[in-house]
Amino acid sequence: MSKKVYILENLGCANCAAKIEKKIIDLPGIDEAIITFATKQLLLTADDPDSYIEEIESIARSFEPDIRIKERKGRQRGTGIHKEEHCSCGTHHHEQEHCSCGTHHHEQEHCSCSTHHHEQASHSHKETSELAAILAGAVLFLIGLIFPKSLPHLVSLALFITSYLILGWPVLKNAAAGIQSRQIFDENFLMSIATIGAFLIGEYPEAAGVMLFFRIGEYFEHRAVETSRKAIMEAIDMRPETVNLVTGDSTTPIPAEDAVPGQILLVRAGDRIPLDGTLVEGTSRIDTSAVTGEPVPVFVSPGDSLISGCLNLSGMIKIRVDKPLEESMVSRILECVENAAAGKPQMERFITRFSRIYTPFVVITALLTAILPSILTGEWSYWIYTALTFLVISCPCALVLSVPLAFFSGIGAGSSHGILFKSGLSLEAIQNIKAVVMDKTGTITKGSFEVVEIIPLDSDYSRTELLSLFASCETASSHPIAGSILDYAKIENIPYEKPDFAEETPGQGIHARISQCELLCGNRKLMEHFHIDADSIPESSYGTEVLLAVNGKLAGLLSIEDQLKPESAQAIRMLHQLGLHTAMLTGDNEANAQIIGQKTGIQTVYSQLLPEDKLHFLQKIRKEKGAVMFVGDGMNDAPVLAGADVGAAMGNGSDAAIEAADLVFMNKDLLSVHKAIAISKASIRTAKQNIIFALIVKAFVLILGFFQYANMWFAVFADSGVAMICVLNSVRVLYRFKKRNTV
Ligand code: ADP
Ligand code: MG
Repeated sequence: MSKKVYILENLGCANCAAKIEKKIIDLPGIDEAIITFATKQLLLTADDPDSYIEEIESIARSFEPDIRIKERKGRQRGTGIHKEEHCSCGTHHHEQEHCSCGTHHHEQEHCSCSTHHHEQASHSHKETSELAAILAGAVLFLIGLIFPKSLPHLVSLALFITSYLILGWPVLKNAAAGIQSRQIFDENFLMSIATIGAFLIGEYPEAAGVMLFFRIGEYFEHRAVETSRKAIMEAIDMRPETVNLVTGDSTTPIPAEDAVPGQILLVRAGDRIPLDGTLVEGTSRIDTSAVTGEPVPVFVSPGDSLISGCLNLSGMIKIRVDKPLEESMVSRILECVENAAAGKPQMERFITRFSRIYTPFVVITALLTAILPSILTGEWSYWIYTALTFLVISCPCALVLSVPLAFFSGIGAGSSHGILFKSGLSLEAIQNIKAVVMDKTGTITKGSFEVVEIIPLDSDYSRTELLSLFASCETASSHPIAGSILDYAKIENIPYEKPDFAEETPGQGIHARISQCELLCGNRKLMEHFHIDADSIPESSYGTEVLLAVNGKLAGLLSIEDQLKPESAQAIRMLHQLGLHTAMLTGDNEANAQIIGQKTGIQTVYSQLLPEDKLHFLQKIRKEKGAVMFVGDGMNDAPVLAGADVGAAMGNGSDAAIEAADLVFMNKDLLSVHKAIAISKASIRTAKQNIIFALIVKAFVLILGFFQYANMWFAVFADSGVAMICVLNSVRVLYRFKKRNTV
C-alpha cells in the first residue's frame, strides 16, 4: 500500500467532489480516497495508485468534463493550489510571498511572471466567456420579457429558447454526463429537469429566467469560493517562486525547486528567507513571526541557521542552502496544512451523508407534490410548477461548500499564528476538551536552564572536573537540561568528551562510560534504579537537581533553574475562564513542581513521574473530567501526546512528537492553547450558523413555494444567495483570527 497525492485541476463543484470520492472508493483495489475540495487534492491509498489515474480521471470527468488529474510532485509549482496564486501576480501580497528577488520593479521582471500572465490569461479567458454567455443570455431574455405583447409569439419563444440554450448549455451538458455515470442527483440535473419542465408547461420566461439566475448565482458563488480559498492559501503558502543564486560576482534568479544544498543565495532586505539555510555573509534582523508567531525580531550573524518563511528585515545577506525546497520549512508547513484539510471533521462527514439523503428527499417530495394534489384538484400545471420550485432548492450546495471552508479558514488562521492543526478533525475536537494537561519543562517554563551551583559530594573531584563529566554525559541527550549544561560548559570554557558508551533513560537521565569509568547523570530515580543511596543528600533549594555518580559512588550535584514563560500565568488564567481544568505532569521533583504550580495557578500538580506514569495520570484526569488536551514540548512525551484526546506539541521540537501530535504550536507560546480553542469554537460556530441558516431559508422557500408565494426565480436566488452568504460567512473565521502581516 502506498499513499499519493494528486491535484484535481478545474474541480469546481464541492458536491461533485463528494460524489467523485465515493465512486473512487468503490473501485476495487482502492484502500482509501479523500478529496479535499478546499485544496483540490486527492489523497489515494492503494497498491499502485498511479495505475488508477486514467480510470479516476474518467470518473471525475463524468461529473465535471474539464477536470484534469495532476501529480503533486514534491510540492512543486503548477499544482492546482498554486495556480490560483498565480492570478494574483503583481499584487502586493504576492510579491512578498513568492519573490525573493528584490525590489518591486525587479520582482515584476523576475518572478517567472511569464507563466503567471499566461495562466492568468487563460483563467480570465474562461471567466470572460462565462460572463459573455451570461450577458448574451440576459439581453435576449430581457428583450423577450419586456416586449411580450408587441412581438409575435414565435419570435419571443425563439428569444427565450436561444437565451435558454446559451445559458443552459453547460448545465445540460453536465447533467447528461451525470446521467451517463448514473449519478443523477446533482444540481445540473435538477436545474435541467426544472427548466425543461417549465418549458413543457408553457412557462418559457421562467425556464430562461431560472437558467439566467442560476448561472449568475453560480458565477458569484464560484468567485466567492475561489477568493476565499485564495485568501486562505495566501495565509499559508510562503514558498518562493525563484531564488537568487550567487555565482562569483553575479546573481541569477533560478526556480526555487532547482536550488540544491550548498549553493549560496542572496536575500535582500524585505524578502522572505526562501529556503532553510545558514547565514554566511552579512548581518540582519529576522522577523520569524510568520513561522513561529514570535513577535520580536531576532538578530542574526554568520553561522546562524535561518528558517525559510521568516522575513529578512534589515540587511542584505547571503545564505548557504541547507535543505532543498521540498524539505524546507515553508513546504513542510504547507504540506502539513494541506494534509490537515484531508482529515475531515465529523461535521463535514455529516454534511456529506446528509446531502445524500436531502436531495432524494426533496426530489421525492417534489414528485408527490406534482402528482397527488393534481389528481385531487386537476390543476396539473399549478402543482407541477410548485414541484419544479422544490427541485430548484434541493441542492445542498450551500452546506457542502461552506462547512469545509469554515474549518479550512480556521486551519489557515491558525497557521498564520504558528499554530498548525494536523487535521480538521483535531480542530473540531479541541472545542470539546474539558481539561488541559501540561508538561512542565519547555511548556510552562522556558526550558532553558541556568546552572546555579555545582557542589562536589566527593572531595576527589573539583568543580571543573565535575562540570566536564556532567557535560560529557549530556552529549548523549537532546533534553533541554542537556543543552543547558553543555552551553554552560562552553561558556566556562570547560572541555568535555563524547562517552564511549551512553544510554538515556527517559525521565531519569544518562548512563555512560568514559575511559573505564561508569557514570550516572540524572535524578534520584536514576540513582535508585542503579542502587545508589542518595537519601543522605539534602534536597536542593534551587530548582532542579542533577546528580552525578562515578563508579557507583555519588560525586557531585548540579543545580539548575528554569524560568517560567512570561505568559504562563495569564495563559492558565484564560483557560480557567473557559471553565477548563488545568493540570501539570512533570518528571521533576516535588518542591520545584509545587512552586511552578503556585506561581501559575495550575489546579493539579503531579511530580516525579516517568513518561509512562504521565500517561497513567492523564487517563485518570480523563476519567474524572472528560476529554483532555495534552500540551508538551515533545521530549519524552510521545506516548502521552498520542494518548490524549488532543495532543499538542510545543515548538518545532522532535519529529517524533510532531508525528504523534494533533496540533503543533510552532510559536512555543502557551497562550496558543487558548487561541486554538477560540479558533476551533469560531470554526464550529460558523459551520453551524451556515447549516441552520441554509436549512431555514430552504424550508421557508419550500413552504412559500407550496402556497405559490415563491416562484422559481425566487427559489434560485434563495439557493445561490444562501450558498454565497454561507461561503463568505465561512471565510470570516480567517479574517477574524488571521495575524496581520505588518511588513
Ligand atoms: P518534564 O516533565 O519536566 O518535561 P522529563 O520527563 O523530560 O520532565 O524529565 C524528568 C526528569 O528526568 C528531569 O527533571 C530530570 O531530573 C531527569 N532527566 C531527564 N533527562 C535528563 C538528562 N538528559 N539529564 C539529566 N536529567 C535528566
Ligand atoms: Mg518534558
